[in-house]
Amino acid sequence: MITLSAIKEILAEQDPARVEQLAQKSREITRQYFGRTISLYAPLYVSNYCSSHCTYCGFHSKNRITRIRLTPDQMRREMEAVAKMGIENILLLTGESYQATPLAYLKEAVQIAKKYFTSISLEVHPMSTDEYRALFYEGVDGITVYQETYDRGRYAEVHLSGKKSDYDYRRDTPRRAALAGIRQISLGILLGLGDIAEDLQALYEHLRWMEKNHPGIEYSLSFPRLRKIKGRAFALCDVNDTTLIKVLCLTRILFPRVGLNLSTRETPALRDHAIEIGVTRISAGSNTSVGGYDLFKTPEEQDPQFDIEDRRSVHDIVRLLKERQFDPVFTDWRPIDNA
Ligand code: SF4
Repeated sequence: MITLSAIKEILAEQDPARVEQLAQKSREITRQYFGRTISLYAPLYVSNYCSSHCTYCGFHSKNRITRIRLTPDQMRREMEAVAKMGIENILLLTGESYQATPLAYLKEAVQIAKKYFTSISLEVHPMSTDEYRALFYEGVDGITVYQETYDRGRYAEVHLSGKKSDYDYRRDTPRRAALAGIRQISLGILLGLGDIAEDLQALYEHLRWMEKNHPGIEYSLSFPRLRKIKGRAFALCDVNDTTLIKVLCLTRILFPRVGLNLSTRETPALRDHAIEIGVTRISAGSNTSVGGYDLFKTPEEQDPQFDIEDRRSVHDIVRLLKERQFDPVFTDWRPIDNA
């Protein structure tokens, strides 16, 4: 395992030639294991109710926004709109409210989603193994859960109340999802919350532990940076583009087979560069508000979880990928009956 001082050294590297060497190595490994393929997905928010208070998030329980929980009919409208864009791989998201979006609600959302998409992942409140198993039987393929920061002190500072303030329960979530049979698990840190090198090392150790104890699962990693929400900064983030690129390259070199995700919170220029050096999965045509695809189309009606930087459509992204000799991948499997 890489040492903390080695990670710090790489992140501090200023010599452009050395950084380019790192990028070149990452590029070669990515092409070796993934070819020129980029998977596409879209997020779909079904609820923004949240009983936790995370200082960096627009959905936090103290923020005065219009709270919405989609009805089954509204879900169908939103899902149909996303499916029409060509998306087959959907990430369903909620705020973290065990009351507003209980297991039964999530199961219903998954049942509806199965009619529109071939692969369904969830980014919702952490649950027990039994609950994950019930969702797996319903048709869930993937679970996304980021620790945000592995620094306990910093974690307590930014997670002020609610279930999310339980550091240990959250850190144990990937293990519970794996025990339930979930096939794809995505971990990550929110860059800018804690010390990057320390968070990276802790994330790498967490992933190594998961790979050793729960092999056979398709793991992926994300490194979202803090973003403004409706133009307001909820927390400071001074992670520059070069640092993010170094993080992606280092991760690729250490984990050749692991998927690297990049969302539309990053700029088109950065995303276009990142797919060349290591990223393998990107979102496209995204909206981060509940009902933002079809129900509530104007910015005044929307309360996004964070602001989007890359507003290109799925069509635009596909065209760009093809121009660059990449194969856009909408789905790499057909639905199977998990039960
Ligand atoms: S990050 Fe999640 S748990 Fe925290 S406020 Fe936002 S939606 Fe709620």
